[in-house]
Amino acid sequence: MERVPAKKATTATKRVAAAKRTAKKATPPQKSTTAKPTEKTPTATKKTPTATKKATVTKKATVTKKATATKKAAPSSKPALKISQPESRLSLVRRARRINRELAEVYPYAHPELDFENPFQLLVATVLSAQTTDLRVNQTTPRLFAAYPTPEDLAAANPEDVEELIRPTGFFRAKTKSIMGLAAALRDRHGGEVPGRLADLVKLPGVGRKTANVVLGNAFGVPGITVDTHFGRLVRRWKWTDSEDPEKIEALICDIFPKSDWTMLSHRIIFHGRRICHARKPACGACPIAHLCPAYGEGETDPEKAQKLLKYEKGGLPGQRLKPPPDYPGTAAPPLAAG
Ligand code: SF4
Repeated sequence: MERVPAKKATTATKRVAAAKRTAKKATPPQKSTTAKPTEKTPTATKKTPTATKKATVTKKATVTKKATATKKAAPSSKPALKISQPESRLSLVRRARRINRELAEVYPYAHPELDFENPFQLLVATVLSAQTTDLRVNQTTPRLFAAYPTPEDLAAANPEDVEELIRPTGFFRAKTKSIMGLAAALRDRHGGEVPGRLADLVKLPGVGRKTANVVLGNAFGVPGITVDTHFGRLVRRWKWTDSEDPEKIEALICDIFPKSDWTMLSHRIIFHGRRICHARKPACGACPIAHLCPAYGEGETDPEKAQKLLKYEKGGLPGQRLKPPPDYPGTAAPPLAAG
């Protein structure tokens, strides 16, 4: 047997080793599909508890997070606003003004819902709107104003003819007396013009503060708060006040809002009361200001059922005015004959 010199043997060994290394690099180790080395190796056994711990912690964290999220999400599905009692004035003012801002976004087109072309028509229409809807008044007044366009004409009318014309508004005999007395007072005391001052307006027969404020705010541009049934109900639901007295409510609201907001605030609140926040069954589940409302849940909270309660343009129905302003997104009311 031929002996290999020691030096050569070393070189040969090195070459073989190098060749093996190259082969090893070229062929990456195959992963076993059956073996579970990590479970068997001591190292893996050592690591497993930590991993399990971590996993448990993560799981716990996720569960806790989810629970918190669910807890936090609950108010959005039932968001009745809690108000700490007694509420500070600052908090009340902030809440009230925020509701006004959000209502302005919901009803950017809010307006008086009586059709009128001059202060006299608005005054008469407002008196006729007692105990009936603005829609019914709007369907009635075109014929009345066509027959008696001025206070002088109405004051000189035959009462029975007026009664017949305004019959659809209800209480037509009493209302005939009111509007004819009003027309006579305008003719005799104000030269046939509607006065633009609260003090004069409230002295006219059948004209209270509410009617006077409607006329001032909408025919003269003089800011006024109109506390009607909707206004009173909503401000009580929002806990701005618990008063039932329209004059007290008016004074309180005048204190909370700047004068420049008064007229539009009144329209927005009345719009909301007529469309969404109804007296008997408010549509809480479809109310865009539910998150600000301490009375959420007083009405229907199921979104689908609530949607069906919406009225006028919010419910895809005609509005109250036969001649709505151009920015009104709904449709005009039908005239009486077609109703
Ligand atoms: S509809 Fe319901 S949630 Fe909306 S303002 Fe009225 S009571 Fe509040």
